[in-house]
Amino acid sequence: MTRTYAMVGTPCQITAATLMDRYTGDFPVELKLGLFCMENFSYTYLKKLAEEEGIDLADVSEFRIEKGRLWFHLNDGSKISVPLERARSAMRKNCTVCMDFTSEQSDISIGSVGSPEGWSTIIIRTEKGHELIEKARKAGYIETKPLTERGIRILEKLASGKKEENLQEIKRRESVARPVLYWRVMPDEEYLEEVTDYQFDDLRSDVIDVGACVLCGACVASCPENIVSIKDRKPEVHGECPEGCNACYVACPRTYVPDSIIGHDSASTPLGEYIEFLSARAPMFRGQDGGVVTALLTYALREGIIEGALVVDRDHEKPWKPLPVLAEEPQDIVKAAGTKYSACPLLKILKE
Ligand SMILES: Cc1cc2nc3c(=O)[nH]c(=O)nc-3n(C[C@H](O)[C@H](O)[C@H](O)COP(=O)(O)OP(=O)(O)OC[C@H]3O[C@@H](n4cnc5c(N)ncnc54)[C@H](O)[C@@H]3O)c2cc1C
Ligand code: SF4
Ligand code: SF4
Ligand code: SF4
Repeated sequence: MTRTYAMVGTPCQITAATLMDRYTGDFPVELKLGLFCMENFSYTYLKKLAEEEGIDLADVSEFRIEKGRLWFHLNDGSKISVPLERARSAMRKNCTVCMDFTSEQSDISIGSVGSPEGWSTIIIRTEKGHELIEKARKAGYIETKPLTERGIRILEKLASGKKEENLQEIKRRESVARPVLYWRVMPDEEYLEEVTDYQFDDLRSDVIDVGACVLCGACVASCPENIVSIKDRKPEVHGECPEGCNACYVACPRTYVPDSIIGHDSASTPLGEYIEFLSARAPMFRGQDGGVVTALLTYALREGIIEGALVVDRDHEKPWKPLPVLAEEPQDIVKAAGTKYSACPLLKILKE
């Protein structure tokens, strides 16, 4: 029997989940909470950057990106920051061609931009998302207020800024004969016909070897033969692919994303389609911002709306290394609160 899960993820992880749902069938994630995301870091380079500042990641209690700087909040209560310009060396190069700031394919998008400190900004996109917000509000898990006009303007400005800048990078790469594969314009049917015979070898040459992988884990999750794994930050295959299978290729958010998922005119609609904007906070939970992600997932699990949630916790041995977890108890969701600023192969947990 298929189980019903929720997930929380960055826009690229949400896109991967949308592709899996569309192309690979029997996908158990029924509720998608998408985060806002301007950029992400490589864990190795983030650790190196911290070390250059004399910081051991084991001493960090929280990361924040604010006022053009990356902040390390330390366990002793002090803070150290570096300008984002300097932190760029640790950022994932792939993020410079990403055309989604607010997880446009989610049921509810959540971030901090636009709301006061301690509150989260929420974009409700689907009826399912709307219903969850209403129920969680009535049950006292979250409190909400309208997002101010100023908040909406700031949000739109940042979203269109990201899209315009990254579109320039996509065009620049095209001009030097390094086109961004996923940004091709072609009808869905034509694409599916073209890739009928494409398998993991093609994924490796088209995405992984050229450094375009966003490390979402969809290739692992979609493989019916269970022969894909991610070790040392790279998907690898261990075995023979049966004829006719192209599941990993079509699930990957860096091979092709149809216009109906991320429109090629997306720069003109910086926030995608939505129903309502809100500010919200969750008085009972401690989170990165308003604790709203933790509150919504905990409510959904306790009420039996979902049977588990795909979340990102911290690795026990490597401080702040993201660890994908399938949370089946409320305490696992609570433990995973807080932003880990490194890429995480979240979807692979569906196979573990
Ligand atoms: C890489 C990254 C970049 C972000 N950039 C922005 C930004 O530019 N502007 C902005 O307004 N907001 C950004 N956010 C979102 C913001 O940091 C908060 O996650 C969001 O406001 C929700 O806050 P909360 O208190 O409701 O979440 P919480 O209740 O603290 O829950 C946070 C949830 O995030 C999940 N999570 C943590 N790390 C990751 C990860 N690496 N990948 C996937 N899921 C993860 C956890 O599973 C947890 O459930 C970013 C988040 C990430 C992960
Ligand atoms: S590609 Fe980078 S910027 Fe885009 S959603 Fe993923 S982590 Fe965020
Ligand atoms: S069996 Fe299918 S999904 Fe798995 S690696 Fe091969 S082509 Fe990809
Ligand atoms: S190669 Fe795999 S992990 Fe990388 S972006 Fe594609 S589906 Fe995600």
